[in-house]
Amino acid sequence: MAYSARGLPYFWVMQRKINTLIITAVLTLLAMTSIQAYLIYNTYELKKDAFINETKKAISRIDDETEMVVETSELWGQVFSELLWEYRFKGLSKNQFIEELKKEKDSFSRAFNKLYQEELKKSDLGYEIKFKKNIYSIMVMDSMQIDTVAIFSKERPLFVLGDDFEESQAYTISQARWQTDYTALDADGIEKTVEFRVHTRDRMNISEWQRIVLGRMAALLAGSVLLLLFVVGLFYYSIKNLIKQKKVADVKTDFINNITHELKTPLATLGIATKSLKKPEIKQSPEAFENTLNILDRQNTRLQKLIDQVLTNSLGSEELTLKKEQVVDEEYIMNGIADFSLSVQDKNVSFTTSIEPKEVLLTIDTFLFTTALFNILENAIKYGKESVAIAIETKLSNDRYEIRISDNGVGIPREHLPSIFDKFYRVTSGNVHDVKGLGLGLYYTKQVIDAHQGTIDVESEPDRGTTFSITIPTN
Ligand code: ADP
Repeated sequence: MAYSARGLPYFWVMQRKINTLIITAVLTLLAMTSIQAYLIYNTYELKKDAFINETKKAISRIDDETEMVVETSELWGQVFSELLWEYRFKGLSKNQFIEELKKEKDSFSRAFNKLYQEELKKSDLGYEIKFKKNIYSIMVMDSMQIDTVAIFSKERPLFVLGDDFEESQAYTISQARWQTDYTALDADGIEKTVEFRVHTRDRMNISEWQRIVLGRMAALLAGSVLLLLFVVGLFYYSIKNLIKQKKVADVKTDFINNITHELKTPLATLGIATKSLKKPEIKQSPEAFENTLNILDRQNTRLQKLIDQVLTNSLGSEELTLKKEQVVDEEYIMNGIADFSLSVQDKNVSFTTSIEPKEVLLTIDTFLFTTALFNILENAIKYGKESVAIAIETKLSNDRYEIRISDNGVGIPREHLPSIFDKFYRVTSGNVHDVKGLGLGLYYTKQVIDAHQGTIDVESEPDRGTTFSITIPTN
């Protein structure tokens, strides 16, 4: 296992670094989103204010400059004053006064609204506005005291002119607290003056103002969302890449551990054998000498094989050049099994075959294809139990020839299945294994099958066994 300067395993340090990075990225994103949301909200409020001010201006212009509107307003003011005069001097009750005011509202509003909407059309705002006048309080001033005629709450004011709408959806255009007086002659021809104070507000309602304001912010909103998506994408891509790199680094560390382990044994044996060759008792016994030479030879071959394996797989082996030839399926497979059996004579291995259909011509690079099949067969033994049973079945369907090789070995846990064809990949990575290997066998096999335009798949159940199925085209 590789260790960091502080004595912690590298993969652990890396994992912690990646976790920290993910947390930092998520927090940064959250902070960024919050700031963005805050800025957008502020812009929204500003735009809303600007929009409402713009509308207010247009309305004020109508209110102040359009003669007919001004006249209608004034006329209403006149009626209001008269009614209040009647309340003060002709015995109209408070309720009657309010009722009368309400009656006037209908006739005035009709004319007023018509005028108002006509004027609005002229200012070409592009959206609908409703307007109304509310009264909040009416007081009659006496030299002695103040007489409160009516007081209305902010939520439920007295609507007296215009077009009614919900108070919650209204904006104040202007408010007025006017104090004035009105003089008229009573029945006896005596001049009487009522002095009063009224609190009114002009309120407006803009239909769909939210849609309009949001519409004006569309470019900003779209830009922000795109930017955010881009940053999320960037984070995602970077972290994914980092995890991938970590995986590659882990695999390389494993490989170095494995190859060191693999090289040590033959080298140690070579060392001992060479030393023993120098011993006089070995020199004198031709049999012992021969034996030691055999050991040297075997270990040398093993080292050679190991180095060859590493070289083939590390030096641009992706571009395999095939020397194809035609072979008859049954003959090729049976010969292959016979050759393989020879090399595993000393082990408890049994083969069953079912070559169906026979006499199919396969166009393959026999040397490479045999190596690929032998890698699978070797694994069946390496990862097998005491007695190994290997079954080989073949099938032809739709111009594709399938070879299935099953064993009764230890099997491969499901989570490792997608990776076993990867370069240097070994199950239980991170440890030096009981079973020797470099994680190159299946990688090489897949390269060879790919070069034949074939496919290789694996199914496995831990403790029950593994099945590899290879298909190649027959034409
Ligand atoms: P190596 O055998 O050198 O480790 P391979 O590429 O041949 O490399 O195999 C990759 C991994 O797949 C092995 O480490 C082993 O764990 C698993 N494996 C391959 N074949 C079998 C099998 N028949 N039964 C169980 N495990 C297998």
